[in-house]
Amino acid sequence: MLPNFETSLKKYAELLVKIGLNLQPRQRLLIFAPLPSAPLVEQVVISAYQNGARLVDVFYGDERVTLARFQYAPRDSFTEVTDWFYKAALDYAERGDAVLQLAGTDPDLLKGQNPALVHTYNLARSQALRPFSAYVSRDALNWLIAAYPTASWAAKVFPNVPADQCEAKLWEAIFEVCRVTQPDPIAAWETHLARLATWTAYLNHKQYTSLHYTAPGTDLTIGLPQQHVWVSGRTKTPSGIEFTANMPTEEVFTLPHKDHIAGVVRASKPLSYNGTLIEDFSLTFEAGRVVEIKAAQGEETLRNMINTDAGAASLGEVALVPHNSPISQSGLLFFNTLFDENAACHLALGDGIRYCLQGGIHLSDEEYGARGGNHSLIHVDFMVGSGQMNIDGQLLGGGAEPIMRNGEWAFTV
Ligand code: ZN
Repeated sequence: MLPNFETSLKKYAELLVKIGLNLQPRQRLLIFAPLPSAPLVEQVVISAYQNGARLVDVFYGDERVTLARFQYAPRDSFTEVTDWFYKAALDYAERGDAVLQLAGTDPDLLKGQNPALVHTYNLARSQALRPFSAYVSRDALNWLIAAYPTASWAAKVFPNVPADQCEAKLWEAIFEVCRVTQPDPIAAWETHLARLATWTAYLNHKQYTSLHYTAPGTDLTIGLPQQHVWVSGRTKTPSGIEFTANMPTEEVFTLPHKDHIAGVVRASKPLSYNGTLIEDFSLTFEAGRVVEIKAAQGEETLRNMINTDAGAASLGEVALVPHNSPISQSGLLFFNTLFDENAACHLALGDGIRYCLQGGIHLSDEEYGARGGNHSLIHVDFMVGSGQMNIDGQLLGGGAEPIMRNGEWAFTV
């Protein structure tokens, strides 16, 4: 156990409630959490009530139960979902309440399972979650994803550390990159979020028409829609609650134009997708769509994912992260998107982020699509950035200027 673990856990819980969710007095809070995270959940619940929450509900999930289903349930049963579970989340969203998800499953949980079965399982869950996801993609509620280290996940991140020390090592890393170890974590987050906001302001002012990425194995042009909006750590619900949906967060992101993507991009880190690891892969785009897929490992899973629906073959997010971010500098591969996406510039296949378009949350699906926004049941981030990546922004009046050089910002604000 880490020294001062209990104190750090309380500080972490307080960050989730105050900076992540920015839970408001009179709100309810719904928590989805893995079973082993109960000690953190208890601290979050205490902090929530201390901050005026009216009611906190907790749903615990157990990855062993998920695995048992894959091992023993009828093969034709994987389209079945429990409606009430998804309706509970929707009910919270409709009421204007807050939702926290604690993530920390074994990245290899479903490794040995039939990819078609895993695909059916994921598709059924995505469809059931769709009404709730619509609220999330509009930032219509204060929601947050944060992490809790489980033993299986920790063992994957630290394969060479004795089993009884892995969890403590992962806690140490999470506390570090989530700024829990700073003398005043709340103040450190305020400073960090303010700095992210200066970068988004600079990029929003520029309104580049496209981005050109170059790196070993990558030569990709991504068009940006007119009136795209760069967003970072802190966003706001329509009711005015400022919240930070991911902890940690180091990214500055916007919406790509789904029809204007061309070239090839090579992933710079493996992608852990619902229990399967996809490694050493590259995607070729033409007219906004993936036309060629290559992967050294997990290619079938990647193909299934891209074939989920029409929008899964295009992009819904472009995100910039400087190579010197704390997560990148930790040198760790977390096998968890929440962390790994904040270590490197990344793209997401699938659903676009509506609030990254001016007025986007008020558009009909058709209008949003016509302006370049992508629709899909999936939104899967993959890492493309490295210390060798350069990115240039194309200006509306012609000419280009550097945005990143060797993985770092190429401008000062
Ligand atoms: Zn992202």
